[in-house]
Amino acid sequence: MIVMKFGGTSVADRAAITRLVSIVRAARQAAIQPESVDWRGPVVVVSAIGGATDRLLGLAAEAGAGDIDGALEHVASLRSRHLDVAGVIAEPTERAVVEASLHREFDDLARLVGALGVLREVSSRWLDAIAAVGEILSSRIVAAALTAQGLAATWVDARRAIVTTDEFTRAVPLIPETTSALVAAVDPLLVARRIPVIGGFVGATTSGVTSTLGRGGSDYSAAIVGACLGASEIQIWTDVDGMLTADPRIVRDVQVVPHLSFAEASELAYFGAKVLHPATIQPAVGQNIPVRILNSRRPEDAIGTLITRDRPASARPLTAVASKTGVTVVDITSTRMLMAHGFLRHIFDAFATHRTSVDVVTTSEVSVSVTIDDARRLPDIVEALKDVADVTSEGGMAILCAVGDGLQTAPTFVAELLSALDGVPIRMVSQAAARRNITLVLAEPALADALHRIHDRFFAGVHA
Ligand code: ADP
Ligand code: ASP
Ligand code: MG
Repeated sequence: MIVMKFGGTSVADRAAITRLVSIVRAARQAAIQPESVDWRGPVVVVSAIGGATDRLLGLAAEAGAGDIDGALEHVASLRSRHLDVAGVIAEPTERAVVEASLHREFDDLARLVGALGVLREVSSRWLDAIAAVGEILSSRIVAAALTAQGLAATWVDARRAIVTTDEFTRAVPLIPETTSALVAAVDPLLVARRIPVIGGFVGATTSGVTSTLGRGGSDYSAAIVGACLGASEIQIWTDVDGMLTADPRIVRDVQVVPHLSFAEASELAYFGAKVLHPATIQPAVGQNIPVRILNSRRPEDAIGTLITRDRPASARPLTAVASKTGVTVVDITSTRMLMAHGFLRHIFDAFATHRTSVDVVTTSEVSVSVTIDDARRLPDIVEALKDVADVTSEGGMAILCAVGDGLQTAPTFVAELLSALDGVPIRMVSQAAARRNITLVLAEPALADALHRIHDRFFAGVHA
């Protein structure tokens, strides 16, 4: 059984859903082909239709600011966009059922937005209730579209299948509970040869309150579904040909990486390759389930990227570069001149207490520099460290991470990388013990130039 996840652009309009139906049909036929008696699936996981989550979060913010009219206007435009997409369902009975459920959800949403607008407060719990509407609706539309096209599908309510903690807006799945819930909700459908369709990103707490897994979390949902149900492969269908050698929004002439190891994919996702949510690989690793990234716009000639535990050796040491902006560098200098023992523990305790994760770390005799994505709790961290250190910070920084299993056996790579960046101001450099990546921190305006130079130096004309 395979899990197929379709991202926002892959369900964005009628044409995208029509493509989805033929991709699922082909997978279904391939499953039946070997004439095995116990063929099953696929299980389909979908994102909200492209841009819907941003809109939902935007209207929640308007409600929080008391702008009820503005928020309701956005509810109305989302309603008509969903009704338009649901027009892909030609069969009148299926379409009527979906339209009724769309109206119900949007009526509820309008009431909720009105109430929150009066209160002028949207807690993270209500934010999740609003954000979840996107995936709940897209999954209903896709289930009906498949059924109307002769592929018997059943909508599965993600709130009854993915059980999470109550850390709203970044809830963590509880695996034993989720496994039982998924097996109960999905297994009977698979046995009955139906195609379960489930919204990604969404779950509910043990007491049934709607939660979400964080932005981009539908990939993570697909991996959880795959791991809990013992899938043979997890497919991530998106709008690019696979994992690319660099962010295509910054670098032209990028190439598809045909094969990645789990470790490489995790590093790339963590350091900004948006095509995979950073937590996606983790459920797959435990059960050694291959993950494939594929382009839903070009399903016929999509070779995509295959991600497995190990991969064949490549001629080039560097596999891809990932990057992200909006990073803050925090410099922490010991006020005792030398690093007393316990100094590092003190520093990391302060970050842990204030729930701020640290990405890159470099140290010298008297100071430590770290990077963080989320600087909201920085004043508390500075306060917690004030007796032992002077703390300064600088926002507007970027991380560039060069990743490759081949770097372990390329001792001159760091020197080559730095020489390609001759003249580019670099704020921090770090190489981890696993020597799978080299991470640089630099000012945001220098990022594009640095990425171009690295790409030209290591990828131009060289194919994996
Ligand atoms: P989906 O809606 O299918 O989940 P996303 O927008 O989350 O799609 O992720 C796909 C996007 O990730 C691509 O359109 C691309 O712009 C961006 N991206 C950034 N870095 C990379 C990379 N290294 N390889 C592929 N895509 C990348
Ligand atoms: N719809 C959610 C988001 O936009 C989850 C996802 O698409 O993966 O973040
Ligand atoms: Mg995504």
